[in-house]
Amino acid sequence: MGYTTQMDAARQGIVTNELKKVAQEEKIGEKDLMELVAKGQVAIPANKNHHCLKPSGIGSALKTKINVNLGTSRDCLDLDVEMQKVMSAVEMGAEAIMDLSSFGDTQTFRRKLVAECPAVIGTVPIYDAVVYYNKALKKITAREWIDVFKMHAEDGVDFMTIHCGINKNTAERFRACKRHTNLVSRGGSIIFAWMMLTGNENPFFEYYDEILDICREYDVTLSLGDACRPGSIEDAGDVSQIEELVTLGELTMRAWEKDVQVMIEGPGHMPLNQIKANMEIEKTVCKGAPFYVLGPLVTDVAPGYDHITSAIGGAIAATYGASFLCYVTPAEHLRLPTVEDVREGIIAAKIAAHAADLAKGNKDAWAWDYAMSDARRSLDWERQFDLAIDGGLRARQYRSESTPEHEDTCTMCGKMCAVRNINKILRGEDVDIMD
Ligand code: SF4
Repeated sequence: MGYTTQMDAARQGIVTNELKKVAQEEKIGEKDLMELVAKGQVAIPANKNHHCLKPSGIGSALKTKINVNLGTSRDCLDLDVEMQKVMSAVEMGAEAIMDLSSFGDTQTFRRKLVAECPAVIGTVPIYDAVVYYNKALKKITAREWIDVFKMHAEDGVDFMTIHCGINKNTAERFRACKRHTNLVSRGGSIIFAWMMLTGNENPFFEYYDEILDICREYDVTLSLGDACRPGSIEDAGDVSQIEELVTLGELTMRAWEKDVQVMIEGPGHMPLNQIKANMEIEKTVCKGAPFYVLGPLVTDVAPGYDHITSAIGGAIAATYGASFLCYVTPAEHLRLPTVEDVREGIIAAKIAAHAADLAKGNKDAWAWDYAMSDARRSLDWERQFDLAIDGGLRARQYRSESTPEHEDTCTMCGKMCAVRNINKILRGEDVDIMD
């Protein structure tokens, strides 16, 4: 092939098939895209062993992408059911699926996913190591953590989250600067616990060069996890979060030296007024590496509605620099999401991503809204349904549940329908509201 990773190819001026497809999809010149990939400002996660991949570019110069977390658990072990959820998430527009399987034969599901799922696939090997070795946490060796990382790379995973920013130094700061909600990252808490139990350095930090060699061999994009992401509004932007971000910035430079693509994970819970500054700090410290945000949730007080709290934060984050939004479902903080929760979470994340694309002036995004408003102006209901962000599912349902007296209005204003009446007046027709 003459190159190792997408970044290596871009730096050599080679147009890969993946880059070509992303350039077409985004309507951006191949040369412009190549420059962004070479600089690390766009990642194209594309493991060499993921043969059915439909590649996506992730970076703030491109359209905002969304990720959906799925995978087997103690309560959902049916691989076929889980695959159906994956495929319906892809059909609904998710560009990436993170397999967070935490129970059963995780490798069988992962391999099935790589063989059948065209979306970008991510994993968190820290979770899987605990399941795979099935022994006390402190008995897992540094070598075994790395071996699981390698296994996921061989299996064809496109991007992997590793919490290597919480090294001994960050961990010490975290302990010294008390936090309101400690660590809420699952992977971060596992590796922190392992470090405390064994007294060892974080293996993903200590053996980072070996991790980079594996990434280079398979073209795995690193998603540098934020173990210290704030789990409450109170902890947003605190010393632990920023300290870890600085470490992630240093690790980004080391990855880029080996042509390994990187994304940076972000908050977490964060008040609206801090989001813009947080995106700018990330862009500065990590030299514009794509920012992958988990929310941010803009308030702590809405359990059951966190798809909304996160969509508000995600839209603002993506407007100011984030390029990849992890969906959050209404079940966040409460339970494993159902199929309906997953659907609600995807729609909320898609709305956030699209709202940000409008704010960034993306031409396709503007054309979509223009077409919808055109259909509204001409009271073309079928076209409105076709253009709706969820394929018209809810709009169709609402309209069918409330039939208007006049087909060209809805039951909201009836004969006072401003749209219908203005259309009639502008056509020179009479308008009689009381008729
Ligand atoms: S009846 Fe009112 S809400 Fe319904 S389409 Fe007309 S203006 Fe819009």
